[in-house]
Amino acid sequence: MVEENRKKIFSQSNWKDYKFQLQNRINGADLEKYFVLSESEKIGIQKTVRLSVATTPYYLSLSHPTDPNCPIRRMIVPNEEETFLSPEESPDPLQEESLSPVKGLTHMYQDRALLFANHECSVYCRHCMRGRKVSNSLERMDRDNLEECFDYLRNHPEISDVVLSGGDPLNLSDSKLEWILKELEAIDSVKIMRIGTRNPVTNPFRITDALCSIIEKYNTDRLSIFCNTQFNHPIECTLEAKEAILKLLKAGVSVGNQAVLLKGINDSGEIMLELHQKLLTMRIRAYYLYDPEILPGSRGFRTPLQKGIEIIEYMRGKIGGMGIPQFVNDLPGGGGKITIAPNWYLGFHRESGNHVFRSAAKRSFHLSPEPIDSEYLDRYTEISPSQWEEVQSNLYSVHGKI
Ligand code: SF4
Repeated sequence: MVEENRKKIFSQSNWKDYKFQLQNRINGADLEKYFVLSESEKIGIQKTVRLSVATTPYYLSLSHPTDPNCPIRRMIVPNEEETFLSPEESPDPLQEESLSPVKGLTHMYQDRALLFANHECSVYCRHCMRGRKVSNSLERMDRDNLEECFDYLRNHPEISDVVLSGGDPLNLSDSKLEWILKELEAIDSVKIMRIGTRNPVTNPFRITDALCSIIEKYNTDRLSIFCNTQFNHPIECTLEAKEAILKLLKAGVSVGNQAVLLKGINDSGEIMLELHQKLLTMRIRAYYLYDPEILPGSRGFRTPLQKGIEIIEYMRGKIGGMGIPQFVNDLPGGGGKITIAPNWYLGFHRESGNHVFRSAAKRSFHLSPEPIDSEYLDRYTEISPSQWEEVQSNLYSVHGKI
């Protein structure tokens, strides 16, 4: 029955029409028609306290009907772990609400603002960090709310960079999106706009020629438009997604990827490497790899911090720098993002005046001299005698092996 239902919906003639995809989204109650659900998933669907449950037929087609561990299915179907709440979790771990001077706008960094233009999405991703807003009708942004946001931006000329987010801003109609872009482009101080969208992954048909013409029209000398999307697994890198990205690129929009590190979905060096290799073939540059937020019901997705560090270390040397994301933690309590990297700097060897580094690609150790007239010598942490001893057998300088 599940196979038949899938075949039927996947063979619809208007499959490539993004409106067909939205109008035929499959919600929680209907997931049993397309998946052989596990007991844990049945409980998750009934009891989840997070965002709505829905997927486009397109994104469903990337998932496995019988395997509950399928990475795409894990992002679509809630399981019992979503119903477990822990005291350390918060619906707003980044304190975005307290940094919102008007409804729908967060002003954390002096020169940047986050504009929540929409509360709807094509797929409600189970790991979504904005579950408190997404699919919550109280978060709907009407014209007056958006006008207030534009007024705030006009009155704060220090803001030059606006992230258009949500929900997914590309789930707005073309006309509403055009109005937003027109308003933003008319604010002299706003120079950069970043569209945060998962539609290239979940409903790539949304990237229509008409939409791209609108984006191109406002991607001007006055306003530079970028797009950041969120591919999390190589399965998502389809021909349809590639075509969508090419359309954005032709509209002059540079596309970056912000993956989320997710337990059991993409928490391995091999998967992350394959994902980013495929993204480069789609002309998408790696941007971030997010350490997952501490959200209610998120324990099924969270990984130890060390996982992310090991993944970055694994990737270094196997793919060009454009394909290696920055591993970031958006600090709980509203501290902003920080990057976390493997420790490739072992310290300063004062006697020889050299810094000692560990090669990520070759596992060898390398000396790099501090300038002779440096005023910063007392700023460096010294390499310990035992570590210095350890590096001797595999040590290189500008002249080769020592
Ligand atoms: S598309 Fe983005 S905002 Fe919407 S549910 Fe997925 S992660 Fe959240």
